[in-house]
Amino acid sequence: MGSREVTDWQGKNVTVAGLGVSGIPAAKVLRGLGAVVTVVNDGDDERSRAQAAELEALGVTVRLGDGATLPAGTELIVTAPGWKPDKPLFAAAAEAGVPVWGDVELAWRLRGPDAAPWLAVTGTNGKTTTVQMLASILKAAGLRTAAVGNIGVSVLDAVLGEETYDVLAVELSSYQLHWAPSVRAHSGAVLNLAPDHLDWHGSMEAYAADKGRIYEGNRVACVYNVADKLTEDLVREADVEEGCRAVGFTLGAPGPSQLGVVEGILVDRAFVENRQRNAQELAEVSDVVPAAPHNIANALAAAALARAYGVPAAAVRDGLRAFTPDAHRIAHVADVDGVSYVDDSKATNTHAAEASLAAYESIVWIAGGLAKGATFDEIVAKSAPRLRGAVLIGADRALIREALARHAPEVPVVDLERTDTGAMLQAVQEARRLARPGDTVLLAPACASMDMFTNYNKRGDAFAEAVRELGAGA
Ligand code: ADP
Repeated sequence: MGSREVTDWQGKNVTVAGLGVSGIPAAKVLRGLGAVVTVVNDGDDERSRAQAAELEALGVTVRLGDGATLPAGTELIVTAPGWKPDKPLFAAAAEAGVPVWGDVELAWRLRGPDAAPWLAVTGTNGKTTTVQMLASILKAAGLRTAAVGNIGVSVLDAVLGEETYDVLAVELSSYQLHWAPSVRAHSGAVLNLAPDHLDWHGSMEAYAADKGRIYEGNRVACVYNVADKLTEDLVREADVEEGCRAVGFTLGAPGPSQLGVVEGILVDRAFVENRQRNAQELAEVSDVVPAAPHNIANALAAAALARAYGVPAAAVRDGLRAFTPDAHRIAHVADVDGVSYVDDSKATNTHAAEASLAAYESIVWIAGGLAKGATFDEIVAKSAPRLRGAVLIGADRALIREALARHAPEVPVVDLERTDTGAMLQAVQEARRLARPGDTVLLAPACASMDMFTNYNKRGDAFAEAVRELGAGA
């Protein structure tokens, strides 16, 4: 199969690696096309047995408890994006000359280019927000579109579903890009690059290279972050269509072929006549909610992709105004005694938390959880002047405490040992004690949540609940 187009799936032996959100739909689609499908899965628990039974009823073979062995006769593997490239299954596939596709690659090969052009977004942080802003802008321009990919609707469902689209706003993770060698977006954006998921990719270079794939074959614009040189380097390395342009976004005044900010206005100097002299006003900074610096950067990236597709300036403004961020992303919970309480539970790594700490003047910071190998010296050193105090929770809180001792010894720190359900309430109470009127109590943990909570949503909910209790008792 290799890079050759697959038009006849009848009788093809396809192995789907991993049950789950991408594996189950992929197996069903392939079976529906007449392929002989085997699903292999590492786990063998009650849930996977139920899922297996459902697939077996459709004529799919399922092997539970063995994700390592390549089934005999396999001609193609379609893998869940999360499967690490160094798994034995892939070594066996390489040995046997069997190609490996992710679910996004499958979607692209089946219908990608015909369904609708893709405006694609990747980056360490801000992907979901940017893709949703983009979809909102495209809708404001009267286009039929959807935000798809790593959020809500899968790309496979979007391209094979009943609904027809003019253009798709596609979020792609580094894992998905790794397994999607032939995807060609109309235009793509890399929002930022900071070390994350390095255990999966093996190195920062490999991670960057996978992110950079989003630019391959772009037709109109490769959108990069002027403040993040790595993203611009990736554009330079990409093999794009003739005439495709590099377009930068910046929080400063834009140069030619850039979008940026001038006196509180988002302006476009890329998609205008005579960009040496002209600029097009798109929206006001206050049209972006929340108007935190990193979020304005997200809005500019979304605007750049929309403008690359030919959307008028007014739709950028209307789309940004209509956009509401998802829960737990710099969500303002309440004001209590003149102190503002903000839930950015989604800040699960230091890069994200650093961005939200930069958005407030005087902060009581609630942080901690699972550090995933991160170090905290940089975030603490940069944020120290803004910290009124810190309340630390979770398994790896000592790492943050030590960084605070090194770079911000004057900042008062409360170290909470408890990890029970009452811990967040106590954290919020301690934060209230440290805060003065005008301050912001910011939950931006810079860590994953799974040591204390099911996920970041539950952590944010616990915070909001605690703030409400505080308010009720005030
Ligand atoms: P992703 O889909 O990439 O995880 P989200 O839009 O869900 O991104 O945002 C995740 C978190 O990252 C947010 O809670 C916020 O703290 C932070 N964030 C969002 N945009 C940016 C950005 N451009 N730069 C740095 N951090 C960001």
